[in-house]
Formats: sequence, structure tokens, C-alpha cells
Amino acid sequence: MYLDLCSPRTIKELLDRYGLAPKKGYGQNFLTNPMVPEAIADAAADASGECKAVLEIGPGLGVLTRELGERFSSVVAVEIDRGLIPLLEETLGEYENVRVINEDFMETELTELLHENFGDARPAVCANLPYYITTPIIMKLLEDCPYSCGLPYTSITVMVQFEVADRIAAKQGSADYGAITAAVGLRCSVKKVLTVSPGSFYPPPKVTSAVIQLVPHEKGIYSVYENAPEDREECESFGRRVSELVGAAFSMRRKTLVNALASVYPKEKTLTALESLGMRADIRGERLSSRDFCALADILEKI
Ligand code: SAM
Repeated sequence: MYLDLCSPRTIKELLDRYGLAPKKGYGQNFLTNPMVPEAIADAAADASGECKAVLEIGPGLGVLTRELGERFSSVVAVEIDRGLIPLLEETLGEYENVRVINEDFMETELTELLHENFGDARPAVCANLPYYITTPIIMKLLEDCPYSCGLPYTSITVMVQFEVADRIAAKQGSADYGAITAAVGLRCSVKKVLTVSPGSFYPPPKVTSAVIQLVPHEKGIYSVYENAPEDREECESFGRRVSELVGAAFSMRRKTLVNALASVYPKEKTLTALESLGMRADIRGERLSSRDFCALADILEKI
């Protein structure tokens, strides 16, 4: 029997049958508005080009997984909750192209996971993210893979809290601009896809949600900073230095950049670097674009 996974009644019956209830600690808010998983899967498929493989994080009851299974030739879904695995075998039983892995995504060796499941192909990433670890999951997707020549995904399409979407898409200099904005901007362009109200979930979360899509820059870090080192290894280590610089710049938000970076670079050195880039001595991190962070990391290494 094909279960309607968007019906709250069916969801309750299904969970009951497996002796389960939505776990707050795992951020389990299941989608009940059928238009939403369809729209998320459509957006992921549209941005996926030739490669029809997708990595899902947190399949839950399988409502988005099924939509992905309709549009992609291969779906790999990582779910932390062991209790959901037999349930997923039932709801995804008809999908031979879906593989569910019972693991904590944060504990996975990402490069290995991608290589084992997708070989050299670049999959899409798609998820209705658990809100208790939205930012760590996005940072892992960005930072646990080499990115100087482009991230190993065609796109990252994720549902997040509305305010996190605003932070990721924030304009340079705005109050929302922070470490995650700069970390994403270094690697991807950002598009808002959809706003989703709490009534679209069971149980409803307390906040409004948004679906965003991150599309990796085609030429990796060179798309942002054309002067990045040509040598691949040097470029990777340059990329790591830029990431560290971004992390340090936003570690103490109210401080000027010179003070925020003081534990990593002597103040005099940062001041000289800022001056040679034509930036004010009292500039703060939120005023720097991704390109500015690259230029600053570059010059700090050279002086
Ligand atoms: N995809 C389903 C949907 O849209 O209805 C469920 C989304 S629910 C917001 C988040 C899902 O992520 C849950 O199934 C939860 O168990 C799972 N999850 C939470 N933490 C996780 C982790 N660290 N690794 C993998 N899955 C996780």
C-alpha cells in the first residue's frame, strides 16, 4: 500500500506502528505540505545538470526522499535515528535507486562517503535540515572537502530557519553578515527558493522556514579571487588560510578586524595589510567581501 506521507494522520499511525514519536532532540519536524518536498526536489533536479545523483541528509519518514527518487537515478540518504530505518524500508521499499545509511552525518568522513557512493561524479545535496545543527551541517559541507577548484556538488538545496537563510544571503556590511555569509560567499552563490510556514510540518516548528540553494562557483576560489595560487596544493592551503581568517574575523563580532585578528596576526602587520588594500584601520569583518578576505589573506602571507 502506498502511504500518503503528507497526511498527519498517516504519519501518526506510521510512527505508532513502529513505536516512535517525533524526536525534538533530532529536530524531527516532518513535512506535511506536499507542494514543499516537490518544490525542493524540483529545484535540486533543475540545478543538477548531467549527474542525476543526490545526497540527502535526514530523510525522516522519506517524504522528500521519494520525490528525489522520482527525479534522480541514485539517492543516498543519511539518517541518524536508528528507529526510523525499518520504517524507511517500508516507505521507500519501491525505490530501488535509494540507499539509506544509518549514521550521524556530522560523524561521517565526507570525502569518503562521496567517493564510495558517487565515485568521481558530483552529486546534488538536498535536505530539510534538522534545525539544531543547521549551521554545523552547512559548514561541514563547505569545509570538509577541498574547494579551491570548486566544491564536489552540483548544488546544495536546503530548508533552514528563515533567519539563517537571511544570514547566509546577507549583504556585505549589513547586521546579518557574518562568518557563514563569508564562508558561503567564498564557495557559492546563494538563491532563495521558497518560504515555508510552520503549518507545513508535523509537529509545527516555532519558526518560519526557507529553502535556499547554494550553487558552487564554477572555477572555485578563482571565481572570487583571480590571483589565487595556480598550483593546486598551494591553492588548497591558500583556501584554508582564507577560511581561518574569516573564522577569526568574526570570532569577536564587536571588535575591529585588527583586534579580532590579534591572536593570529600582530596588529602592526594587519594594519600594514589593510593600508595597502586601501581599507580603514578601524574596519570590521562585516565590511569585507569574500574577495576582500582573499586579498587580505594573500597580502598577510606576503608581507
Ligand atoms: N526529510 C524529512 C522531512 O522533510 O519530512 C525529515 C526532516 S527533519 C527536519 C530532520 C531529519 O534529520 C530527521 O529525520 C532527523 O532524525 C535527521 N537528523 C537529525 N540529526 C541528524 C544527523 N546528525 N545526521 C543525520 N540525520 C539527522
